[in-house]
Amino acid sequence: MEQPQISVLPDHIANQIAAGEVVQRPESVVKELVENALDAGASSVAVFVREGGKALVHVLDDGSGMSRADLELALRRHATSKIRSLDDLRRLQTLGFRGEALASIASVADVEILTRRHSDAHGWRLLSSPLKSQRIEPAEAPPGTQVIVRNLFFTVPARRKFLRTDATELRYISETMIRYGLSYPDRTWKFHDGGGVVFDLVPQPLLERISALFGSEVAASLIPVDYQTDVVRIEGYIGLPAIARTTKASQYLFLNHRPIVSRALVHAIYQGYEHLLDKTEHPFFVLFLWLDPERVDVNVHPQKHEVKFDDERAMYHAVHEAVLQSMREHGLVPTLRVESIEAAAPLVAVPSGAVTPPLVVNRLTGEIVPLQEQPLRRSPTQRSNQPTLRTERPAWQPARVEQLEQLLQPVSPPQQSLSIEQPQSRRFWQMHNKYIFVQTDDGIMIIDQHIAHERILYERALDAMERAAGDRSQRLMFPVTVQLTAAERAIYCELEDDLHRLGYESRLTADGASVELLAVPVEIRAGSEAASLREILEQYAEYQTIRPAAARDNLAASFGCRAAIKAGDPLTQEEMQQLIEDLFRCRTPEVCPHGRPVMIHFPLRELDRRFGRTS
Ligand code: ADP
Ligand code: MG
Repeated sequence: MEQPQISVLPDHIANQIAAGEVVQRPESVVKELVENALDAGASSVAVFVREGGKALVHVLDDGSGMSRADLELALRRHATSKIRSLDDLRRLQTLGFRGEALASIASVADVEILTRRHSDAHGWRLLSSPLKSQRIEPAEAPPGTQVIVRNLFFTVPARRKFLRTDATELRYISETMIRYGLSYPDRTWKFHDGGGVVFDLVPQPLLERISALFGSEVAASLIPVDYQTDVVRIEGYIGLPAIARTTKASQYLFLNHRPIVSRALVHAIYQGYEHLLDKTEHPFFVLFLWLDPERVDVNVHPQKHEVKFDDERAMYHAVHEAVLQSMREHGLVPTLRVESIEAAAPLVAVPSGAVTPPLVVNRLTGEIVPLQEQPLRRSPTQRSNQPTLRTERPAWQPARVEQLEQLLQPVSPPQQSLSIEQPQSRRFWQMHNKYIFVQTDDGIMIIDQHIAHERILYERALDAMERAAGDRSQRLMFPVTVQLTAAERAIYCELEDDLHRLGYESRLTADGASVELLAVPVEIRAGSEAASLREILEQYAEYQTIRPAAARDNLAASFGCRAAIKAGDPLTQEEMQQLIEDLFRCRTPEVCPHGRPVMIHFPLRELDRRFGRTS
């Protein structure tokens, strides 16, 4: 008989071909090994990488560990402990199931596995190199599994050439680590690279995890999502428009713990933000979908990023509703003040004074209802150990200077007839001694004067405390004595050094019952020196019960809150201009220290739409 032309590929070639799909870069190795650790029930996962993972990826877990018999099979293609039948695939609870990852990795890198089951007296070490047979020997090992992958792609130079710089590869890995860190906030995560700790996270609630990874500013600017239909539960957090970014980084979607990509669902989220964001702005979100595994197919992509739902439309609708519901509950569905807009026809000199609650139009329902005060959002974040995340300057920070220049540009004359009545120099309008209106390039910006000033003073206070420079004081002609209660005195003593840095020059009197003030921060107005100190101590005590770990932050926020101009304070043009200039010099001008928005932007587009204008 003739020799057949077709031959079955030997394992090592088949594995290398599969590796092309599963292992594209060091990040894929990290992802697969981390998923294996999670599938093994690890409560703690540590990842060490060197040279962007090209030289070394070492993943350590405290999960189930493997027996010798399992270890022998672990690197075999299609060897998995996670499914045995198609039925299991339908009810999948694990992240892995294809039994391809270790086989693929071992075909393009040196692999060492050290593993021990908790009940075993000793563990096992496996050593493997591409094209060589693997070796297993008894070894001392802590319970759990360590997988060490060295010299990725050294047998496949063509693939190695495609890798980017170490820094870029590390960035990919960091993104993946952030994703799993978010998806499993109840686990301990350690992530190091050759340069040191990238992050080090203890088990914590999701909001604290977000805070640990993205900073307290972001965590303070989120609203919770919690929504349930018959088929899906959606929970997590979405960002206020104020922390929208210029890129799509920082958008995280999970399906039953698995990070997923879904253009449709992301679109549903954007729809929820309609009119709140410009085309160039991208919302921050961390959303989890919990769904019966039988209703999704995760097996449509070798890396399992993409998934298929059995009812795509229902999912789209649920996600959209979930976002809208949260926005409604948190007063974020934008509201337009009918009264203000009418009264503001000349946009000048609207007398202040008591007004009945203004009416607002609910954008969604079209109803006209009295405006309700938005509750002050206090951040419940409590960061006990603040991990460090080394990142470059966040990409989403808008270019402040440009924004400012845009705001301060001379207002282009409106329609001819109107421009006569509207003096060119008047670029800010104060409404009800409370809000400042500014015309922007493409709409109207409304700034809350108190919150804006609070933000400015908060950042100044933080800087002052860090710099420890004593140039913020104004001397008092006559020292002022401030009586303190025992509780206030205790706080005063705790904060004395930082208060001095803020600009308070003071000393306890001999009997310890009061404080003598010799100088106060420049921002404190004459006559309120004593009150300011007492109020700051009081406010500090309140914040401290909410966020005990953030002492300096709390002091800065208390100072900002107490020393800022209030709603009701009339401002001159120059004062408004100064305020806005100072505001846009802030690092985060969009939100107050506790997450309330400082400004609201009404795009012209939105006004045009409401007036039924098409151009
Ligand atoms: P899959 O995860 O799809 O099953 P892998 O190639 O990633 O395939 O892993 C093969 C098998 O090796 C797993 O099914 C599991 O039984 C075992 N394994 C891999 N990593 C670990 C680990 N960290 N702890 C315990 N078992 C592991
Ligand atoms: Mg796996």
